[in-house]
Amino acid sequence: MGKQVIVLGAGIVGVCCALELQRRGMDVTLVDRQEPGQETSHGNAGVLARSSLMPFNHPGLWRQLPRLLKNDTVQFRYRPGYLARNLGWAASFLWRARPSVFQETAAALDSLIRLSAPEHQRLLAEAGISHRLRDTGWIFLFRSEAAWQGSALSRAAYARHQVPTQALDPAELARLEPALAPIFTRALWIQGSYSVDDPGAVTRAYADLFQRRGGTLRRLDATAICRDGAGWTVQGDHASAALAAPDLVVALGPWSKSLLKTTGIDLPMAFERGYHMHYGAGDGPALTRPVYDTGGGYVLSPMARGLRLTTGVELNDCETPARPDQLDLAESRAREALALGARLDPQAWLGRRPTLPDSRPMIGQAPRRPGLWLALGHQHIGFSTAPGTAKILGELMSGADGTPYRAFRPGRFI
Ligand SMILES: Cc1cc2nc3c(=O)[nH]c(=O)nc-3n(C[C@H](O)[C@H](O)[C@H](O)COP(=O)(O)OP(=O)(O)OC[C@H]3O[C@@H](n4cnc5c(N)ncnc54)[C@H](O)[C@@H]3O)c2cc1C
Repeated sequence: MGKQVIVLGAGIVGVCCALELQRRGMDVTLVDRQEPGQETSHGNAGVLARSSLMPFNHPGLWRQLPRLLKNDTVQFRYRPGYLARNLGWAASFLWRARPSVFQETAAALDSLIRLSAPEHQRLLAEAGISHRLRDTGWIFLFRSEAAWQGSALSRAAYARHQVPTQALDPAELARLEPALAPIFTRALWIQGSYSVDDPGAVTRAYADLFQRRGGTLRRLDATAICRDGAGWTVQGDHASAALAAPDLVVALGPWSKSLLKTTGIDLPMAFERGYHMHYGAGDGPALTRPVYDTGGGYVLSPMARGLRLTTGVELNDCETPARPDQLDLAESRAREALALGARLDPQAWLGRRPTLPDSRPMIGQAPRRPGLWLALGHQHIGFSTAPGTAKILGELMSGADGTPYRAFRPGRFI
């Protein structure tokens, strides 16, 4: 029997960590308060893209700030009370938009994305669901020449990291995606990138694979984590439900912040909330790959259920009720670009992107807490980077030198 580990959280990050630690011979129990893949990992846009090396806090953010602070764009909303209570996080986030940190972050995220893509391909094949993966990349759409010029910083970053791209004129775009209305003057096709048609189903299939290989899945609504002589105990909503193991991995996505407070860790994490809605097919040809309308502030992804529209950022508390007016606005912009059919869901889905001030996840052991491991803070790119996260965590938990992964060390904020 290998060493016992509890992985807390069965989103894509926790599930990938559980599979990797199991592959390394550990005796893993995966714990969640619901079935795997019901939260953030269910509702995202399903894009696995090399272009995701661009964090939201890049040096161009300063120029955009006056417009974003007006709080009326489709791309970015905030609740003033939340921002006022989290000014420290906001200042820290902005401070890390400076060029030196940005370069470091882009390089770190690029390495994580590169590590993850082949791992996803392996896991998809092992889970028997390779058909869910498209290798057709995704397309950034620009409504004006000025918007295209405004993307110069991103394009330079892609070139620096050898992200394969192709600039498209309107005729080339129409050939690739005839479903789009001719309102875009420019487009950038991000190649060498992937998407899936149901990220929640992928997460659940990975969890099934973990169980088929002998892993244990437990239902527990964790209320606290505490250290005891033998290691770590996860307390649940009733005393008999507690679980203990020498090693514990916290992979609770946005809920990591509140649960880690019970161990005395105050994570500087903010919630970049986002919404989704599915639409039936409209008249005319279908969209064949995800597109990001940079002016419209939404992503449209073809999914098994229909066309999924996902919104930009709403900076707000994790648990306050949904405010789907951002989705309504994104929908009206999307209808300018595509003949969308009727709404398919009774209400908008709400998710939370868990974001640390440098837009990098934490992967590794918590300082001064031996046996407590963190895999969290994956902001906009957790679906794509979960398998790379798992690989790094597996190496670190097997005693590897952490120097190559310093960019992700938890000690930078704890
Ligand atoms: C609108 C939107 C679009 C996105 N698009 C993309 C994209 O295209 N590509 C990409 O790579 N990423 C995307 N992301 C980001 C990505 O979805 C997240 O980074 C990722 O899903 C985070 O995974 P996770 O496993 O850390 O968290 P989650 O999936 O949220 O999992 C956390 C788990 O913890 C469990 N849990 C919480 N509290 C407790 C408790 N007390 N006890 C027990 N269990 C608990 C939950 O039930 C849940 O299963 C998007 C996010 C949003 C919101």
